[in-house]
Amino acid sequence: MSTPPEVSPDYLRRELDSLRRIGGFGMFLLLIFQFWGQWRVVGVLAAVLLVVGISNTLVVQWVWRRVGYPWAETVRLGVSALSFLILGPLVKWSVLLWIYVPFNMLWFEGEGRWERLRALAYLVFVDAVALLGGCDPLLPVAFTVLAAIAFQVADRRTALHQIMLRRVLVQQEQLQKAHERALEQEKLSSLGMMAAGVAHEINNPMSFVTSNVSSLYKELQRQPGLPGPLQEYVTEVLPETLDGIRRVNAIVSDLRRFSRGDAEIPTEYDLNEEARAALRIAHGQLGHCKVEADLGELSKVVGRPRQIAQVLVNLLVNAGQATGPGGRVQLTTRQEGDQVRMEVRDTGSGMSPEVLSRLFQPFFTTKPLGMGTGLGLAVVHGIVTAHGGRVAVRSKPGEGSCFTVYLPLQPPAEKAVSSGA
Ligand code: ADP
Repeated sequence: MSTPPEVSPDYLRRELDSLRRIGGFGMFLLLIFQFWGQWRVVGVLAAVLLVVGISNTLVVQWVWRRVGYPWAETVRLGVSALSFLILGPLVKWSVLLWIYVPFNMLWFEGEGRWERLRALAYLVFVDAVALLGGCDPLLPVAFTVLAAIAFQVADRRTALHQIMLRRVLVQQEQLQKAHERALEQEKLSSLGMMAAGVAHEINNPMSFVTSNVSSLYKELQRQPGLPGPLQEYVTEVLPETLDGIRRVNAIVSDLRRFSRGDAEIPTEYDLNEEARAALRIAHGQLGHCKVEADLGELSKVVGRPRQIAQVLVNLLVNAGQATGPGGRVQLTTRQEGDQVRMEVRDTGSGMSPEVLSRLFQPFFTTKPLGMGTGLGLAVVHGIVTAHGGRVAVRSKPGEGSCFTVYLPLQPPAEKAVSSGA
């Protein structure tokens, strides 16, 4: 199918106008042909054709330019009604004249109540003139029904076009949003790469800082009779420094693990270990609320640990962002038969049914631009279903939310692989 060329509304209106004039002119010619030989009738028909032609080309165009299309249309229908008044008795209410009535209704453009009233007034006038002029009632009835159908068709077609237009506008808006989110995502992935680089740079010096401070600590511990200030180093300063170093190392290794782009091979892992890593990574977003971790006894799980950590980070960050100062965020893990249940519960803003229904849609976010990408839960859903698990959500506006992730200890695909299927 070829795409229509880009045309202006005015150009299309003029084209429609030409079609209307050609149709009207054709019907007049047929009438003249029908009464050929009755020269008085032909003369009047020709005169009316001339007047209507001049009116439609000059007067209607003038009114259109001066006061707009709706008024021009009113003048055109008015002239058509008057010509019907003159021609009806003259052509003995010929069917050819009646055809013009539904033809007139085809141009309805659904511009509101005023247009409907104008069309109704036209039909009432034409029918009254015909019935008072002694026309067979069957003709006005039949052609009024036809005219009403033509009017409804034009009305529905216009409504359909308007709906389609609105849909295109909505799609355009969504595309625009998706484009903005893609840009945001691009920024995030650059940030991820930068974080990996920084983590790598910190990791090297940290390894010799760790080893040197540990050696110094061990060495000092072995020395008997240390002077007072140095003894304080052994009992307080160095253990605290080593603790700080361990924390920095943990953050650096989490960051490196997290921002590595390579594909992860399924392995057997300790899910609670990933939960602790997720809590450390999301720590910055949870500082304002009370965080409780209740990690139960779990068997080893088979899957992609980095991805599962990402699931928990996304849920914890969302919980932190939804919860105000003093609120509570709880992370629970439990084993239930051959599956693991992970729960992130918050006492934050909660969600409306509308938000709940669109939660996992990619790019759906209620956060301002720059704060949310709308990808967090889409990623959660993707990872969990790829592991053969599922996510359940409970939430009430103002009362907080609870995201529960169920993961099989061994995903079905991995089971198939390990059993040699
Ligand atoms: P993002 O966080 O980038 O907006 P998500 O896919 O992670 O994208 O979340 C989508 C939307 O779901 C959020 O914008 C928010 O409206 C809602 N949401 C997710 N988690 C919570 C939560 N714990 N509490 C309230 N609303 C939430």
